[in-house]
Amino acid sequence: MLGAPILVLLLAQAQPPAPAQSQPQSPAQAAPAAPPRLVAPTRADILRGEYGRYRANNDLLYYHLDVRVDPAKKWIGGKNTIRFKMLKDDTRIQLDLYANLNVDTVLLGTTALKYERELNTVWVDFPETLKAGRTYAIDVHYSGNPKEIGRFGGFAFKKDSEGNDWIYSSCEGEGAMVWWPNKDQWRDEVERMDLSISIPNDLVDVSNGAFVRKTDLGDGYTRWDWQIHYPINNYSVSVNIGKYVHFGDTLGDLPLDFYVLPGSLEKAKRQFAQAKPMIEAFDHYFGEYPFAKDGYKLIEVPYSGMEHQSAVTYGNRFANGYLERDWTGVGVSPKFDFIIIHESGHEWFGNAVSAADVSDMWIHEGWTTYLECLYVEQVFGYEDALKYTNGYKAKVRNREPIVTQRGIHRTPSQDMYFKGALFLHTLRNVVNDDPRWWKLVHDVYQRFKYQNILTEDLVRFVNEQLGQDLTPIFDQYLRRADLPTLELVFDEREGTVAYRWKADERAFAMPVKAGRAGAWEILKPTTDWKLLKTQIKKDEFEVATDLFYINVTKQ
Ligand SMILES: [Zn+2]
Repeated sequence: MLGAPILVLLLAQAQPPAPAQSQPQSPAQAAPAAPPRLVAPTRADILRGEYGRYRANNDLLYYHLDVRVDPAKKWIGGKNTIRFKMLKDDTRIQLDLYANLNVDTVLLGTTALKYERELNTVWVDFPETLKAGRTYAIDVHYSGNPKEIGRFGGFAFKKDSEGNDWIYSSCEGEGAMVWWPNKDQWRDEVERMDLSISIPNDLVDVSNGAFVRKTDLGDGYTRWDWQIHYPINNYSVSVNIGKYVHFGDTLGDLPLDFYVLPGSLEKAKRQFAQAKPMIEAFDHYFGEYPFAKDGYKLIEVPYSGMEHQSAVTYGNRFANGYLERDWTGVGVSPKFDFIIIHESGHEWFGNAVSAADVSDMWIHEGWTTYLECLYVEQVFGYEDALKYTNGYKAKVRNREPIVTQRGIHRTPSQDMYFKGALFLHTLRNVVNDDPRWWKLVHDVYQRFKYQNILTEDLVRFVNEQLGQDLTPIFDQYLRRADLPTLELVFDEREGTVAYRWKADERAFAMPVKAGRAGAWEILKPTTDWKLLKTQIKKDEFEVATDLFYINVTKQ
């Protein structure tokens, strides 16, 4: 996803509206804003975000979501079969479904279970203790009119320009529980999933996974069956229902399937040609596309786009840039379709490597924004990549840490995208050995694909691979608001410059390139003063701020 407007709800409007929909701003244009005011978590935040006893007592294995969607009534109903393994003996589990949708019945076999609803939570109670190590399956039957909410719609019943139904889900911020009952948190994913979506005969459903079959139900409805062969985030599960036409291609053994409205077909055939070099670029850096058995799809939708796993949705007007704008404002973004590259990049980081708590969402967004930079480097070269990456500086605010409080589902600020990418770019220059850096990012992906991790898992792995403790660097960039500042104090008569880091992390020690461009010296500042002999005058002494995202002061 791009942008996180839900933030304003939680930070009492301390943050200006998401820049994702506005022109890129230079620092001079960025409006000064009050520091964020923290708001105590509500009961709803805790129910949503806490990996509490009744979530932690079980491990998800499988969903079969089998629903009917009635466009005329803007209604959805059906059941989700949930299979899980108990990790502890217990008599209750926590599921989630928006309060406006009805739970019709919850069945264990033929036994109706008791359940209790609290806000958007469904507490399911079992008449006998479920035993640790055993696997159980329940059917949650539900129905109602899902809400159209949030930036992209949650679950939306729309019409296309010809007046045909165009219905879709896009609910990362709101939660999948906006339209179906599930264990709605980030830490635990099913291993695989089946989706059966019944819709009027004249419409097409495109969902995640491999297409299995469609079945005419004989009552004016057709059921579309899709099979997902991999772990999947709940919010990534999606329906896209419309008058779609299909065209396809392959990349080696990987099927590429494209679904657009009939009027978009020619534009799409031209624009979606960017999918192949995109996949090849990310294959190059990280290894093969993670969801080969499910294929890769691009599906036209009426909002900008979303990284639904193996079913990336696209609404970028079949034009380069982001909604026809130069996204980082330096002339590189118009060379490619931002939504194809960004949302598909999430297949590697976001969908394959996933964060275990929304607090660590930079693992999705910071990495995927960095993937854009890698795509630019692979396709257009290093100079463009450097420009494109540094173009992101104008979007960073440095007003609050990127990693937020755990357990309350508080979406981090947009810095997780732009500062996250600039941090990874900085880390590359800390490593200062590109073959080693490419091996590291490749190995990070390979180590953590199909897993849900926290920042500390990533830091531990990077430290092990590099044989260095970079924890204070990660902490300063991710867990502190301010950038590190390189303080330089010149004594031209003595021919010296004193230098140190001003940083919140006392142990912050990051090498940096300084002196003369093209003949950089590597300084190894810490938070204590050091002295360097130099013939370079204060005005001519440069710091490689295009390689290291830092502040510099000179006196
Ligand atoms: Zn994103």
